[in-house]
Parts: sequence; structure tokens; C-alpha cells
Amino acid sequence: MEQVGLALVTLLGIPIGAILNRLGTDLPARRPPRRPFCPYCGRPRPWYQWIALPAYLTGHAHCPHCGAAIRARYPLVELATAFLFGFLYLRYGLTVRFGFFAAYTAILVLIGITDFERRLILNVVTVPAMALAIVGSFFTGHITWKGALIGGLVGYLTFLVLALVGNALVGPGALGGGDVKLAAFVGLITGFPLIIEAIVLTTLAGGATSLFLLLTRLRRPKDPIPYGPFLIIGGWVTLIWGMEIARWFFGL
Ligand SMILES: [Zn+2]
Repeated sequence: MEQVGLALVTLLGIPIGAILNRLGTDLPARRPPRRPFCPYCGRPRPWYQWIALPAYLTGHAHCPHCGAAIRARYPLVELATAFLFGFLYLRYGLTVRFGFFAAYTAILVLIGITDFERRLILNVVTVPAMALAIVGSFFTGHITWKGALIGGLVGYLTFLVLALVGNALVGPGALGGGDVKLAAFVGLITGFPLIIEAIVLTTLAGGATSLFLLLTRLRRPKDPIPYGPFLIIGGWVTLIWGMEIARWFFGL
């Protein structure tokens, strides 16, 4: 049974990934999601290209009208979502916690798409995400609703201060309002005190990466560090392994 469940949940991740792709393309363009279309010629995609992964696997990765390839982001996001859903199923089984964690994961993937491609973290994503996280804190059992609210507040205030300091030091753009709301969402799902761990992991990963980029001269000292992707990864890792990492760190 476990293998059947795992296969079904993993397969479900593929169309969910296709929906995240659609939202990741349409929401930053400030338009309601519409039927999949080719961004080059504007024609609607045929049904067998609505999900990119099977289209790639069957050799239909090109627009039948203009011949442009479906961008690699589409099958990659579908694959990643399927993999993450399968992982969550193995870890939590078909539980309420699994349902909320899968939703949180999908939201983080969507934020990852828009932040990585457009440097945009949209209120239309983060605000409902925060509401969902507050509802989730009553059902998932991994934090209390009070812990969630304090975590959200700590994440929000920490990144608000970082944004204000960063903007004063390197000018606007280092950290935006979207990052601050993403930090609030991460705090709401990891709770207090684990939000502190999420912030530490984010800072370590972001700092190490920017140091590497500086040393390899891929980046200049004045370039702002995009903290969104690190916050997404740090937040997700803390959501899943936060307690284990804390126990290991404190030698418990
Ligand atoms: Zn086309």
C-alpha cells in the first residue's frame, strides 16, 4: 500500500507543479491565470503540452506553431514538486500535517519561481499563505498557534530591520517588502523559537554563497544579495528538520 500511495502522491506533484508554473508566469504579469500558451507566438498550447514533463518525455517539447521549445523551468518545477511531495509522503504519511506541509512546500516553490526569475515576491501569494499558515497551526500539531504567531512576528520584524539597515547601507533593493512578508510566512510555519534557526540558516547560506561569489569575482561588493531563495530553502529545511538540527547543534 505504501508504494501505491507514494506513487500516487508523487504523480500528483506533476500537475500541481504545472499549476505552479502557470501561476509563476501569470501572476507576476498581473493577469489572471489563463490556458497555457506559447510565450513566443502567443498561440494556445495543445492539451498534450499543458504538463511539460510528459511533453518532454514524448518528444513534444516544441510549440507546434512556431517551433520554440518549452523552457526548461517547466519540467524542472514539475519534477521538483513531484519529488518534494513524494518525500513529504514518506516522512509524514497521508496525514493532515502532510496536507499542510505539501501546501506550504507548493507555496515556497511558487515564491521561488517569481523571486528567482523576476525578483518579485507577490502579496497575492504571501498574504493568503500567511492566512493558511495560521489556520494550519491549529491542525498540524508541530507548533501551537501562539508559537506560530510569535514566529511570524519575529520573522517579520527581523527582516524589516534587515531591510531598513540594508537599504540605508547599500541603497534600495537589498531587501524588499516581499522578503519581509516571506519571512513572516516562514515564521508562521516554523514557529518560535525555530524561526531563529531558519534566520540563522538563511544568513549562513546567503553569506557563504555571496562570499564565494565575491572571491570568484562573479559578484561585486556593492551588488545586493537576493535573500529570498535562501530564506525559502532555510525556511523549508527548518520546517522539516528544525528540531533535529537544534538537538544536534546543542548536543542533546
Ligand atoms: Zn509558439
